[in-house]
Amino acid sequence: MSSANVRVPAKINLCLGVGPVRDDGYHPLATVYQAVDLHDEVRATSRDDGEITVTVHSDLDAKSEVAIVPEDADNLAVKAARLLQERTGVTLGADLAIRKVIPVAGGMAGGSADAAASLVACNEAWGTGLSRSSLEQLAARLGSDVPFLLHGGNAIGGGRGETISPVLARGSYHWVFAMAHEGLSTAAVYAEFDRLNEGATVPEPVVPDALLAALRAGDAEALGDALSNDLTEAALSLRPELEDTLSIGIEAGALGAILSGSGPTALFLASDDQHSLDIAFALSSAAGCADVVQSRGPVHGARLG
Ligand code: ATP
Repeated sequence: MSSANVRVPAKINLCLGVGPVRDDGYHPLATVYQAVDLHDEVRATSRDDGEITVTVHSDLDAKSEVAIVPEDADNLAVKAARLLQERTGVTLGADLAIRKVIPVAGGMAGGSADAAASLVACNEAWGTGLSRSSLEQLAARLGSDVPFLLHGGNAIGGGRGETISPVLARGSYHWVFAMAHEGLSTAAVYAEFDRLNEGATVPEPVVPDALLAALRAGDAEALGDALSNDLTEAALSLRPELEDTLSIGIEAGALGAILSGSGPTALFLASDDQHSLDIAFALSSAAGCADVVQSRGPVHGARLG
């Protein structure tokens, strides 16, 4: 019986351009991902009978959120292990143990992160030896964000987010994350986006040049100005109190403030450790804030360790 442990980061979207809904129901995206220092862990222990089981543990306060993570075949980590079994024909199974730190339904792709980690952990525990690029192909079948969570660092995401390409970037950034008391369903936020844009011509999404220039230069102030998220209006329409959270961070001097993906986690860019601490302190008394976390990015994607 062999086992492997994988750490996998959360993602944030420095920009999230959302285009008109496609015939297949997905929206074309133009995004820049950054992997940040907030990690889930997935341990895969092989078993001989081909079964896949999963357990989810958390040290977080938001235990109720963890309770909504399925401990059955619907868990994305289980789907990833099943896909790897099919692709390789391996007859082994696995017990997957997930340690959750990434907020659930927080717009930080926690489920996708666990799927990416499960691919890497099972590939190691089963000795199936798929290359990183073969794992990335499987990842794209599991969800839009999964290929990026294997990759890590910074990357441009196209298609529905699953087509990733490198971006020239410099610097390490200080982030503060304000976690909300309750998650937001990604599907509900996209449905609200469609409702708000009904009858309007939604342009094809693009990554802003100013954001790419800021990353190339490693200029945190310019990056703060260039942060953008087309889902903001939809998320705020469903959760108006998030506006207060964003205002508190801005008043505390954040270089930029946006929602992470479809929300409700709000992210704030700081200039250094002390600045990040000041912003975290201001947010910690905000009514809409369940937890405040200081973090750094970019970091590596899913890795053994
Ligand atoms: P994204 O940023 O990709 O839109 P999110 O961070 O908002 O996603 P997730 O934490 O990935 O949301 O969870 C969304 C839903 O997926 C949860 O409500 C849960 O039911 C389901 N889910 C399935 N597997 C997992 C998993 N391993 N971890 C978390 N949620 C999972």
